Formats: sequence, structure tokens, C-alpha cells
Amino acid sequence: MQHIDKIYINGEFVTPHGTELFELFNPATEEVIGTVRMADVEDTQRAIAAAKAAFPAWSCTTKQQRVEFLTRMHAAVVECENELLEAIIEEYGAPVARSSWMATYPADVILQAIEALESFEFEEQAGAAQVIYSPVGVAGLITPWNSDAGFICNKLATALAAGCTAVIKPSEMSAMQTQIITQALHKAGLPAGVFNIVTGRGDVVGAEISRHPDIAKISFTGSTAVGKGIVESSAATLKRVTLELGGKSPTIILDDADAATVVPMALMAGFGNSGQACIAGTRILVPQSRLSEFEQAFAFAVTYIKSGDPRDKSTDIGPMVSRKQWERVQGYIRLGIEEGAKVLIGGEGRPQGFDKGWLVKPTIFTSANNQMRIAREEIFGPVLVIIPYLDEDDAIAIANDTSYGLNAIVLSGDLQRGISVARQIETGRVLVNTFAHEPKAPFGGVKQSGLGREMGKWGLSAYLEPKTLLVG
Ligand code: NAD
Repeated sequence: MQHIDKIYINGEFVTPHGTELFELFNPATEEVIGTVRMADVEDTQRAIAAAKAAFPAWSCTTKQQRVEFLTRMHAAVVECENELLEAIIEEYGAPVARSSWMATYPADVILQAIEALESFEFEEQAGAAQVIYSPVGVAGLITPWNSDAGFICNKLATALAAGCTAVIKPSEMSAMQTQIITQALHKAGLPAGVFNIVTGRGDVVGAEISRHPDIAKISFTGSTAVGKGIVESSAATLKRVTLELGGKSPTIILDDADAATVVPMALMAGFGNSGQACIAGTRILVPQSRLSEFEQAFAFAVTYIKSGDPRDKSTDIGPMVSRKQWERVQGYIRLGIEEGAKVLIGGEGRPQGFDKGWLVKPTIFTSANNQMRIAREEIFGPVLVIIPYLDEDDAIAIANDTSYGLNAIVLSGDLQRGISVARQIETGRVLVNTFAHEPKAPFGGVKQSGLGREMGKWGLSAYLEPKTLLVG
């Protein structure tokens, strides 16, 4: 049992003023593995005051000084990778392959921020004017549980690179991972107050950050519903807001695709991170003329996908993060059946051989259409829907008939044709015949998948305001 009773304010680990305890679980065993003492509004205000006090000096550091600090952060985060890996498996339940990536990504993403900073021009000429990019002020960074340390490090490194100071509100469900990353960041020896980490409830700490007049900018990753609330509460002080929200991303299989090649790719897109991924390809669009061929291919391929113990190296899908999330996913499986879709494979309940752990059977629905709630709402678990289309135009229309637009994948035997379809998809990112990721490129969503972009120069710009200088 681990009892986490410290938050990080002004360069020190301090006992929160808040007294509420929140239980931490191992999702594979459903056992309580720890508690976290939660910060409250007073703690949040102290953290904001510390970040505000640190801002004048930090915002005046040079690019080179910031690169040096970020390099120290990177080294410190690399040091904690093994400890982080263990916490990710224990507290989040990501299977070994995924958790290994999740443990190294936080350091990688700091390096990516360093690269973006090194090549960023903070001043440019616009006609007769000089344009100076200045940090916006104190940034409030609110992150979810599905990649705790990765989101903390990405948002923090970018905010600091821009010259902002920060107050971070991670998910309360990831307190063990947050504790490890906070200790590592502390070792990097940044000036006190430059970053502060206050774990607490979203509707307490998160709400205070969204409301507080000394927060100039919010960068939020999480659900669309909470994102909308943040826009509302930050409107009173016109905070700059970046939102990375949910998705219902299409995987569009064109009629010239080779089933043996594309079916494993579509499953990887849908079941990655145990289905708890904002970019998950949860709507699989297949040509009506080849529907039964694809149904058979998907049903066969899923029999080889193992949902089980995250410590077992052969496991592909780990447990859902919490009982609430497990019940939500089970509810959607029931809903799909009630709506008249057919369970092609999977279904309600735990996988065979498990009577505990928040495990879900990898599930695929067919005989579905794009108007069903299972095709419109984000489920955030390993539940996919096959939707047939008539021709290419119909595929594009179905792909775009969604309130989301975060990611899309087009799979085709003809790369040029795939690219032509990709250009017509309304989304923040589209991949053709690949899972390649480019950290230098912007990441974010259109429609209700978000506002603004992270990563590269676009991510850095989101923490800066252009100031026009004209000299007589
Ligand atoms: P969530 O919206 O419930 O919580 C996200 C964070 O917001 C948490 O720290 C939470 O405590 C906080 N929060 C909750 N209520 C708040 C409030 N009223 N004011 C301020 N903060 C509040 O989301 P979650 O369940 O932690 O994460 C899953 C969601 O995140 C999914 O919808 C997923 O699609 C999305 N997500 C998006 C991306 C992306 O990059 N687009 C990446 C990962 C996850």
C-alpha cells in the first residue's frame, strides 16, 4: 500500500491543505493499492500564486537557458523510466509492450520540445514591424489518466519552452505515476515555482484552474464534455485555451485493399492502448460488396487477440482503468445489442478464465449503421463497429458524418487513391497505409475533438502571444 500525501508547490513537496482521500486500484486485480490525499481550492490557489511569482524571471530566460533546463528535465525523467514502467502496469494496467512505450515516451517528448524550441524564431519581421512572440503567462495544464506522465511532460516541456510557468492538475487516478514523475522533475532543479503539481478532483482543482484570473492559458486533454465546461468557465477572463478531446475515428478500408494486410492494421488502430485511446479507429468502414469477407477476416483475427493480465507478455489488451470505465464499456456493449447491431465477436462480460479484473472481451459489432449510438459516441474501450458503405463517396460521407475529427486511417492497395480519399476526411490527422507518427507535425482535432494544436512549432505557438513593434 502506498500513501501519497504530498503535492508539489514552489519547488517543495508539501502536505495538501485538502484532506479528502482517494483510493488507488490495481485494475487487473481490483485491489486497493494505495491512497492519495487530494489538493483543494486553497492548495490550487497557492500553486497558482507560486507560478505567478516565478513567471517574471522565467519568462526572461534565454532560449539557451531554457534548453539547458529542459535537457536536465530529460535526463531526470530517463532515470525514472523503470520505476515508472512498474507504476504504469500496477496502476493503469497497460500490457507490457504498451507500458514499455509509455515509460519512455515522457523523456522522448521532452526531447521533442527541446527540438521545437531550438528551431523556433521568437522574433520575425512583418513589413515595417517587428513581431515579438511573448509567453502568455501562467499555464494551467489538465491531463487525463490514459497516458499520465506522457501528457504531463509534453504539456510542461512545451509551456516552459515558451517561457510560461505552470500549474499541473493530473488525473487523480494516476497519482502513483504522477508521484514518480514529480520526483524526477524535482531532481532537474528548476527554479522554485516554475512548475507546480496539484493532484486533486477535477471539479475542485481543475475547476479552480479554469476559473482563476491569474491563469492566462489552459491546455486540457480529456473528454469533450469537460472540455466544453472549461471553455465556459475560462471565458470570463478570456483565457487562451487548447483542448485535446475525444474521438470516434474512422478506419476506411477501400475496396482494393488486401484483407490479410489491412485487417491486422485496423485491429491495431482500434485496440491500441486497450481501446482507451483518443485516436482509436473505432468505426471500421468496409465496402458492402466485400462485407462478409471482412466479417470473417475480423472474426478470425480477433480470436488471436488476448485480453488479460497486463504482466503476461502475450496480452494485447489490459483491463479498463476503473470499475466505472469497465461498467461504461459493458453498458455500450449492451446498448449496441439493444440498438440492433450484431455481436460479430466478443460481447458482454469478462474474457473466459477471468472472474476479476476490469477486463473486456475484444468486441466487434456488425450489422450496424453510422446513426447508432455505438457508432457516434466515444466508448473508450476495445469495442469496434463495422459499417458497410456503397462506394468511395459514401465512405467519405460516413467517415465525415460525426461530431468528432481527431484521427483517421485510410487503407488501400493504391497509395494515390488512399491519399485522394485522405484529403477529403475532416480530421486533425489522417494516416494512409501506415501508423507512422511525426512529432514535428501538429496534433489535435477538428469539430468537437478539440481546439488548437499541440506538438512542434504549433504547440509552442499556443503558449505565445505575438506583439507588434513599430519604431519611429
Ligand atoms: P476527463 O475529461 O474526465 O478528465 C480529464 C482531466 O480533467 C482529469 O484530470 C480530470 O480530473 C479533469 N477534470 C474533470 N472535471 C473537471 C472540471 N470540471 N474542470 C476541470 N478539470 C476537470 O477525461 P478522462 O476520463 O480522464 O480521459 C478520457 C478522455 O480523454 C477521453 O474522452 C479521451 O478521448 C480523452 N483524451 C483525448 C486525447 C487527445 O489528445 N485528444 C488524449 C487522451 C485522452
